[in-house]
Amino acid sequence: MSITLAPYACSDHQSRGRRHPEPKPTNRSEYQRDRDRIIHSVAFRRLEYKTQVFVNHEGDLYRTRLTHSIEVAQIARSIARALQLNEDLTEAIALAHDLGHTPFGHAGQDALNECMTEYGGFEHNLQSLRVVDELEERYAEFQGLNLTFESREGILKHCSVPHARALGELGQRFIDKTMPGLEAQLTNLADEIAYNSHDVDDGLRSGLIEIGQLESVALFNEPYQEVIRAYPDLKSRRTIHEVVRRIINLQVSDLIETSRNLLQQHNPQNVEEIRRAGRNLIAFSEGMREQHLELKRFLREKLYRHYRVHRMTSKASSIIRSLFEVFMNDPRLLHPEDADRAAIMRAENGPTGQARAIADYIAGMTDRYAIREYQRIFNPIELT
Ligand code: MG
Repeated sequence: MSITLAPYACSDHQSRGRRHPEPKPTNRSEYQRDRDRIIHSVAFRRLEYKTQVFVNHEGDLYRTRLTHSIEVAQIARSIARALQLNEDLTEAIALAHDLGHTPFGHAGQDALNECMTEYGGFEHNLQSLRVVDELEERYAEFQGLNLTFESREGILKHCSVPHARALGELGQRFIDKTMPGLEAQLTNLADEIAYNSHDVDDGLRSGLIEIGQLESVALFNEPYQEVIRAYPDLKSRRTIHEVVRRIINLQVSDLIETSRNLLQQHNPQNVEEIRRAGRNLIAFSEGMREQHLELKRFLREKLYRHYRVHRMTSKASSIIRSLFEVFMNDPRLLHPEDADRAAIMRAENGPTGQARAIADYIAGMTDRYAIREYQRIFNPIELT
């Protein structure tokens, strides 16, 4: 690769390494290896049939967790390259960031978290880490994907202090209040840029929100006025696309410029100084932050709380709750392999262990698998 990395970028020689030591890769970097392992994982393939906002069977054109993750990787890599940060690491974090999501998006996560209240709760971010650390079964010598510290640090965006204590070195920053590397910081914001922009696109496509409503939102309205001034006769589909690409560009450009200035002011010399900087050095300007939050609020009120989205999420919650309850009461309804795992975890850790095994199983389901599993178990005329 011909791009020179900044001294504060994560790099193979500054890496804190892997939990299970392995020989260096031959024709690729450590972070390329992380990315490749993620792409080949089962959890990654399942993202294709997991929901972002719209449930998977609602239409073929909406984003899924897979296309969302690819869009996040695209945005994050552009930012990384502009700031001379590590693109391979950035891509690995972006592609893995949603691996722990339950079926049915946030409705699924909230329902599973409720079911798990007495058993340590359920958090999708922590689950993404669990997927790469424990749940993937692919290698002879270790559990999970054995990713580098930096990829795992990027995947674990937030974490409560009690959970952090159990995670050792990786959890330490939530106790010390230090920062993750810049690649983790920027991927987090690239995630927000991606879903804000594509939810506008999907929201308009679905007809659940309309352009007229969005005119009150500055981050939409300014580029929209520019587009209709320049191309007054353009069809609405193309107009929307021209606006959405501008929304992404405005945010990305602002983020790059603001972060560049912050990095110049703080002048960090290595990754450790980034971790101890006392604040994130990847950030939006104040003005953009405000606009970004305004759009986010709009989407929450008008799209995520739309009654049609709510009907679907309410069904989704009841599917998750019913599955959890039925498996918890009678683990013999699980496939033998999962039933064995639940029994082993129960022997080690009582009902909490059994509940965790069931949560892992449910969290791994795609939307359509969860719906089918629900029918197989609760519909008396369905074949098992
Ligand atoms: Mg995401």
